[in-house]
Amino acid sequence: MSASSVAASSAAQEAAWHNGAVAPLDAVRDGIWTVGSPMPAGPRPGGRIPCTLASVIADDAGGVHVIDPGSDSEANLAVLAAAITATGHRLDQVRSIVVTHLHHDHLGLAERLRDATGAPIVLHRAEQAALDALAADVPSVEVETARLVEWGLPVERRAEVLRLVGRSATPVALRADVLVDDAQLLDVPGRRLRAIHTPGHTPGHLSIVDEEARLVFTGDHVSPVLHPGLGLGGDDGGNPVLHYQRSLRRIAGLGVDEAVPGHGYRFVGLAERCGEHARHHQRRTDEVAGALAASPDASIFEIASRLTWSAGWASLEGFTLRSALQQTAMHIEAVRTDSA
Ligand SMILES: [Zn+2]
Repeated sequence: MSASSVAASSAAQEAAWHNGAVAPLDAVRDGIWTVGSPMPAGPRPGGRIPCTLASVIADDAGGVHVIDPGSDSEANLAVLAAAITATGHRLDQVRSIVVTHLHHDHLGLAERLRDATGAPIVLHRAEQAALDALAADVPSVEVETARLVEWGLPVERRAEVLRLVGRSATPVALRADVLVDDAQLLDVPGRRLRAIHTPGHTPGHLSIVDEEARLVFTGDHVSPVLHPGLGLGGDDGGNPVLHYQRSLRRIAGLGVDEAVPGHGYRFVGLAERCGEHARHHQRRTDEVAGALAASPDASIFEIASRLTWSAGWASLEGFTLRSALQQTAMHIEAVRTDSA
């Protein structure tokens, strides 16, 4: 986590974040609320994140729409139902479930909420494709070994990474009911909610702009509390680093100052925060470019070993080692694509 220039626009959410607590119901605008949907317990990369911020938006036809319901559990459905009741609505008034990206802490509860309400799940077209590809991609030791060889991982370090094959949670084979494209208006009567395709964190990540309320629901594309990881939704048919930089410019260019992120707290200073994320990832791309210029024939493992890692290179092992190699590979490709 690094210093952030943004200012919280919800004191209650900011206090909850600093106390490691689940965010309380927050009235964002007339007919727009956000509530913390608890994360499952357990250690997470980057530290403990207490909740996902789920949003509830009333339309002018008696319905409500949910953005990012949160992680899956019966208890979380009850949390969301209580929040909807507190806004003066009922669960059976939910008309759509919009999900920014495929990660469990955003999409997880969507299917249970659909079962309870009959409301359609809305995803970007590329995110559905990414979900399908992940579900079909049966992890194999052979494929992973070939990748580690390509990355130049010394033979004595392979076992700690190969041990992870098949251990990560298999994503749910979920079918969205509505697939949207970039710049499409969502079906929310009386509001102008526009879906913006912001790939980088995942291939089909969506940010949702409320053009009248002057608010962007940024999912994990822009965060007040951490720098989002990239390439975390499988093959994106391009380079996640370059996609992410472009997506940041897109959101910064909307001219909207306030954001409701997937985690942390509502904040103002959206364009500035996009700039901070851009510089954070650009510094890493530049560092990789420097290491590559010094040793053009070095392997991905060798380049990675020359970069600065917050935990220290020597402490990386297993999952963190693999993730470091993957990030390095992504940045090397970004350097080569940019200079091609
Ligand atoms: Zn998240």
